[in-house]
Amino acid sequence: MQPTSHLHLGNYLGALKNWVKLQNEPDSECLYGVVDLHAITQPYEPGALAQATREIAAAYIAGGIDPAKSTLFVQSAVPGHSQLMWMLSTLTQMGKLERMTQFKDKAGKNAERAGLGLFAYPVLMAADILLYKATHVPVGEDQKQHLELAREIAGTFNHRFGEEFFPLPEPYITGAATRVMSLRDGTQKMSKSAESDMSRINLTDDADVIAKKIKKAKTDADPLPGTMKALEGRPEAKNLVTIYAALSEKNEDTVLQEFEGKGFGDFKPALIDLAIAKVAPVTARMTKLMADPAHIDKILAAGNVKANIIAQDVLEDVQRMMGFWRKG
Ligand code: AMP
Repeated sequence: MQPTSHLHLGNYLGALKNWVKLQNEPDSECLYGVVDLHAITQPYEPGALAQATREIAAAYIAGGIDPAKSTLFVQSAVPGHSQLMWMLSTLTQMGKLERMTQFKDKAGKNAERAGLGLFAYPVLMAADILLYKATHVPVGEDQKQHLELAREIAGTFNHRFGEEFFPLPEPYITGAATRVMSLRDGTQKMSKSAESDMSRINLTDDADVIAKKIKKAKTDADPLPGTMKALEGRPEAKNLVTIYAALSEKNEDTVLQEFEGKGFGDFKPALIDLAIAKVAPVTARMTKLMADPAHIDKILAAGNVKANIIAQDVLEDVQRMMGFWRKG
């Protein structure tokens, strides 16, 4: 995740919760990075970047990532990310990058003025994955296209340099909430960059703020039906049910059976209680962690060492395969 601003419920349900699941699977070996090199692809405040990096690390740990089980590191502290990215960029066609919908969204109308870093972002993401020869990448649905490109780049490298060197990384998109939508507009993704803070629940929001945001969330006047299928055409209602299902780890239809025939006057208070019960402990752990930045720094520094060891090995293999000169 990028240390751009506070994490929100979409990041938690779409990504972090699945990271913890993956971490706790037997035989899994997980690396989770705070991707600060991605964060500088758009206007940002240099004075706030280091603290934002700590905050994301705190959110990872508060959400259940255990630094004793998983490697938690900072992208810019592992030079291999930038080095591999350059090499992979020579294998990536501009036309493919031009098709990336996230670039189009982020660059807006003025794509000519967008930075090269924003354009090349998916190549850096491919490097983030391939530098560790990762086999599975737990992401929200919005990253599916970037991951597809990472697979293509891996395939191109393997084909060009004649070895099945990189595994083709699989997306790991799971759970009810692979795409959490804005609380103000059910057709827009919940995002850090949306102007209105009322559109998202941040992991730093307290109980009162969570309650206020859900109370004010856009809905409609109809009662809830018994199945998700019957919610087609009601994006805001669907989103709140999805959030409820993901937070309670129930199937969406099971949630609807519970609330069938009831309106949002009944559903919203239940969702508020559930959201507060699930988010407040994460927020409390985050606050506690943030009170001791030196502790977070120690965890990240140890993770950086572990990540660098794996990265260096892979990078040396890549350099050898690509034919670079090295002292014999
Ligand atoms: P970012 O906000 O771009 O740093 O994304 C970090 C992770 O959160 C990625 O794996 C995204 O796919 C995921 N994510 C971001 N927004 C959402 C959302 N609204 N719903 C589900 N997952 C999301």
